[in-house]
Amino acid sequence: MRWNACILTISISLACLVPPLLAQQRGGGGGRGGAAATPRLPGPDDPIKQMVDRLDLEKYKATIKGLTQFGDRRQGTERNRKAIDWIEAQLKSYGCTNTERIKYQYDPATATNGGGGGNGGGQRNPNPFGPSGARIRGYRIPEGVNNDPNLQPDLKLRELNMEPSSPGLREEVYCTKIGTTHPEEMYIVAGHMDGIGWGEAANDDGSGTALVMELARVFSSPDIQTDRSIRFALWNNEETNLNGARAYVAQRQGLQGKEDPPGSGKYPEPKWLGMIQHDMMLFDHGMPRADGTMSREQRPEADVNIEFQKNSKMVAQSQELAWAFREANELYATDYPAAVGNKMTNTDSTPFMDVVASISLRENERGSQLGAGWDPQHHKPTDVFTTYYDKDFRLGLNAAQTSLAAVAQLTGAKLKK
Ligand SMILES: [Zn+2]
Repeated sequence: MRWNACILTISISLACLVPPLLAQQRGGGGGRGGAAATPRLPGPDDPIKQMVDRLDLEKYKATIKGLTQFGDRRQGTERNRKAIDWIEAQLKSYGCTNTERIKYQYDPATATNGGGGGNGGGQRNPNPFGPSGARIRGYRIPEGVNNDPNLQPDLKLRELNMEPSSPGLREEVYCTKIGTTHPEEMYIVAGHMDGIGWGEAANDDGSGTALVMELARVFSSPDIQTDRSIRFALWNNEETNLNGARAYVAQRQGLQGKEDPPGSGKYPEPKWLGMIQHDMMLFDHGMPRADGTMSREQRPEADVNIEFQKNSKMVAQSQELAWAFREANELYATDYPAAVGNKMTNTDSTPFMDVVASISLRENERGSQLGAGWDPQHHKPTDVFTTYYDKDFRLGLNAAQTSLAAVAQLTGAKLKK
């Protein structure tokens, strides 16, 4: 029996998200009334485990490292444009060759929120509620964006980050794995490739961008087929108020599910089934201490935080998607568990959340934990590759394992023998 009782339970609960999945997975193995059966970890012949095993810590680290050659990749700069070109070349080299770009105009004079903001490293905020209205408990340190180049001690990196952002045309890249039986439907797997803070944006969001690229690499392997399509998207302008993801929704929402040209079997914008954002995947060292210092080590209890937004139109579908990811983590992530929260905020899945099931994956909850300063590198000059240890990178790898397994299940992925 390939699918144990636990997976059967998930597939039933997913039935309203993706009806055909039910029949497909139920066919995998009996187990009726097996709700109380002891779960078992997938064995070496489990095809999804075989796909997950193609993720690799050193490859994941190398992809993050590759992104850091473009410094903080701030939107509206040459280093940001070079990073997009590099990402596109990588996607093509993985076999995700149908890359496309969204183009949009960004003019900070007319846009809301000029980027950054925050409370600039000032006083401790006494408000017991963080971004999204999530309650903050315990010790906290100030959260804010560094805008001072002189705080970057690495002179080469400071120089690399020197060009300021200019208003104008922006681009962002995506590629798509086309489903074999339902090319007209897709899941969007995404991260944001721009950063701020005068570091290398290694964690925010090199870690999420690399995760999406690694999934594109694995799913683009010619021996993997999926029933449904998967789009791998690397948003720009997240740090200025999600402008890249907003542009995508504005330009493409109305194109969903349309065959173009008619009769071609081609769907330039498959119908959206779910949007999964990955942002800051590495650092879960716990709460700041009373004196404001942090543990240098990943805490053993580190987890992947999956969030949906309780005040969204698609809350029921988003919640269901979140639990599917948690169950995928239980079976397929090697080291760290996942937790589900209901206050997704400040992330590129927000523009999607009233249209389609939407979740975000992070190292910490955005409101209650990051909002209390649990990641002291956030938007700071210290967000550089060398800040992180293997246990940090491994949390990101576990998030990748979680997303890969969940998306493989949701899209009916199969390994061709
Ligand atoms: Zn981010």
